[in-house]
Amino acid sequence: MSSEISSADEHHLRRCVELAKQALENGDDPFGSVLVDADGVVLAEEMNREKSDRDPTAHPELALVRWAIAHLTPEQRATSTVYTSGEHCPMCAAAHGWAGLGRIVAAASAEQLAGWRTSWGLPAGPVAPLPIRGVVPHAVVSAPVAPFDAEMREVHRRAATQAQR
Ligand SMILES: [Zn+2]
Repeated sequence: MSSEISSADEHHLRRCVELAKQALENGDDPFGSVLVDADGVVLAEEMNREKSDRDPTAHPELALVRWAIAHLTPEQRATSTVYTSGEHCPMCAAAHGWAGLGRIVAAASAEQLAGWRTSWGLPAGPVAPLPIRGVVPHAVVSAPVAPFDAEMREVHRRAATQAQR
């Protein structure tokens, strides 16, 4: 799987991890995402704002879909890439599919995220942790991507520890 990951991909994933850490510092869940165009230009960045916006749907991937619909043509959307610290939830995956956005590169997979929660004794979320391709069958997805998945595991472990205090 790592063969399909370029150094540019790694650069953008590193930024997603930074955004996720920033979200955690803001008191939100640690997720961050970046939208990049066909030429490799960063178009928009988002982070989780569930707690700060008091909106449990304030996921960065959904915010980037909204941005893309407002600012990009369907052709530009299709050739863009969405980088994210954790694989899209089904809500964000469906929005991605409806908007016709392009490739997805995620540091951690949905399976990993769900497994970590379980192993730390956290309850499952209200939405099934389906892989993106369970929602958008033709999506092009690279996930997980080492070593960023291990780094995100540590960030999520820290978030879980803080939440239990
Ligand atoms: Zn989501």
